[in-house]
Amino acid sequence: MTTSGPPVRVAVAGSSGSIGTQTLDVIRSDPEAYQVVALAVGSAADLLIQQVREFRPQMVVVTDPAARDDVVERLGSAGLRAEGLGSVLVSGDLTDLVTGADVVINGVVGFAGLDVTVATLAAGLRLGLANKESLIAAGPVVQPLRKIPGAEILPVDSEHCAIHQCLRSSHRSSDDAGSEVARLVLTASGGPFRGRSAAELAAVTVADALAHPTWSMGPKISVDSSTLMNKGLEVIEAHELFQVDYAQIDVVVHPQSVIHSMVEFRDGSTIAQMSLPDMRLPIGYALGYPDRISTPFGRIDWAQLARLDFELPDLTTFGSLKVAYQAGQTGGTAPAWLSAANEVAVEAFLAGRIRWNQIAGICVDTLERYDGHIPASIDDVIAADALARVRASEVLQTVR
Ligand code: MG
Repeated sequence: MTTSGPPVRVAVAGSSGSIGTQTLDVIRSDPEAYQVVALAVGSAADLLIQQVREFRPQMVVVTDPAARDDVVERLGSAGLRAEGLGSVLVSGDLTDLVTGADVVINGVVGFAGLDVTVATLAAGLRLGLANKESLIAAGPVVQPLRKIPGAEILPVDSEHCAIHQCLRSSHRSSDDAGSEVARLVLTASGGPFRGRSAAELAAVTVADALAHPTWSMGPKISVDSSTLMNKGLEVIEAHELFQVDYAQIDVVVHPQSVIHSMVEFRDGSTIAQMSLPDMRLPIGYALGYPDRISTPFGRIDWAQLARLDFELPDLTTFGSLKVAYQAGQTGGTAPAWLSAANEVAVEAFLAGRIRWNQIAGICVDTLERYDGHIPASIDDVIAADALARVRASEVLQTVR
């Protein structure tokens, strides 16, 4: 940002991961605008020490005890003390990192990220949210915290960031889209199997499923992208973030991944957000909001962008998207069950135990065993996840 005023104090949870390192990239692009106050990792001590030397936070959190001991020892070494890093506080508790921050970027993967989400919102701070579990599994626990004065969620995900931006064209607040919104339209690249029939997909291999056309990602998320479960989970997140009914959330396949999502308003106007696919844009949006950062990460070259295509997803072939809508509509911990069942199924697929086209069925069968539980705490959510994994494993035993 080129605006004057004090730098935005940023805490980064998961600073060694993809979202964390890209957050630090955005900060590097305009170092005067930000002050990194805290960094948190699981066990990546080497990278953390590098980041500490570059960004000089007041505190670091290392959740793995052995790595934490290592970091304490290295920060206390004569060399790093001479660099002025002897006073960096070291904690093992992720919730400590919200102290002294204006905005917390939660790039923690998995259930460990729930604590960061809760602590940030409870402290009345802005949360740049990339942790999927926070809204998909723990939506009912996280929602009430958004009413705390100052607490706000800025989604660090291209689709939800796009919708957040589109909603700014309404005078209504983006946390409560209100009656002006007719539909949210999430775009999906369609994954590597776009346009293929169920019969053609009966024998796809792990390698086929990992070959994503647009984004380079880890194996779990690549498989989720190939089944459209990734999009299904994003539908649930969109419902939680923007409080729009599932009947008003559509998915449209858009292979170029230039339109990241759209909002249709009740007068028939559709506002779309377009940019090149680069996660640093949503990260910068969350850091700078309500201002826009001054560094463009990937600008559209209109000489290169010849066309934009759209098609509707095939819910028969991509049953994961269908079951995600059903889990979302069921509510309670059904989305937590869905996410857990999908993880079990994807792991089995990656291990060669089941076929690609059996992933959705395992989710459907697991959700048939859903106990209707309404979570009141993070512990309830974690228990629901554990129970769903047991049920999904039982379902898996019956698959041949
Ligand atoms: Mg996304």
